[in-house]
Amino acid sequence: MHDCHNETRKAETPELKLVSSITEMQEIRQSFCKSKSIGFVPTMGYLHQGHLSLVEASTRACEITIVSIFVNPMQFGAGEDLGTYPRDLERDIELLSAYDVDYVFYPDAKEMYPAGFGTKVEIPALSTGLCGASRPGHFTGVATVVLKLVNITRPTQMFMGIKDFQQTAVLRAMLKDLNLQTEIIACPIVREPDGLALSSRNVYLDAVQRVQALCLHNAIKLIQALYADGITDSNQLIDGATDLISEAGGQVDYIQIVDSTSLTELPTANDNCRIVLAVFIGRTRLIDNAAIRA
Ligand code: AMP
Repeated sequence: MHDCHNETRKAETPELKLVSSITEMQEIRQSFCKSKSIGFVPTMGYLHQGHLSLVEASTRACEITIVSIFVNPMQFGAGEDLGTYPRDLERDIELLSAYDVDYVFYPDAKEMYPAGFGTKVEIPALSTGLCGASRPGHFTGVATVVLKLVNITRPTQMFMGIKDFQQTAVLRAMLKDLNLQTEIIACPIVREPDGLALSSRNVYLDAVQRVQALCLHNAIKLIQALYADGITDSNQLIDGATDLISEAGGQVDYIQIVDSTSLTELPTANDNCRIVLAVFIGRTRLIDNAAIRA
């Protein structure tokens, strides 16, 4: 009989293994001992230090780490950037090979969504506001693909960035509602030294827009400072930040002060609130968020 206890981790998976077939990934998963901790990091690739911080957290906490790279067509709306979304699998693999990653799973869209695919996972209470309001169907696409990926990899822990605050809330609810035995580990936002949150979409920004993009972080800092000064009226907090963003050349998609758990907009801010915003810099839509109490 296979003896889990005498296995060393590296003897089982000597190096980074690339897997594109769903069946192969499932077979690999089935071969793991029941007691193994499996960390999963779902990504759309074009990796940066934000992604890599999740990878590092997973390799530190778990015996096995699986990173997926899949630009999920189902979460892009008509007219969005599915076709131009940056992709560089070779570079991603090179970056990942510097970490203790065991498997890179990069399925093909045709295998993930074969003809006749029709299932949708919806979490309407958390999906229709904020990013969901300007990207209808986005979180249905995210939840559906993540459920598929979780079913394929059956991780004990899934590492996600709170950069995508609403996404984390939606997926947490999905895992709970559907009794999946995967725990979400939410990791902090990794920023450039000047405060811009790292994003694969930052490559769309030209030099002028790169400076303009700082308005997201500056708007957050302004709201935090006003709140620290005792202002709790959300309209008042948001008005100043909206002006700051317009003056910097950004166009607000939304900026709200919401309850951190329910994501409902609150007229009066409290310490459990989150500042969440999406701003267009030119045609590039960027998101950011932070606790109201810095
Ligand atoms: P994406 O490739 O955009 O789907 O992101 C994959 C994962 O990386 C998600 O859990 C994101 O929240 C996370 N992520 C993206 N940007 C950052 C960042 N700047 N800091 C931390 N995590 C991030």
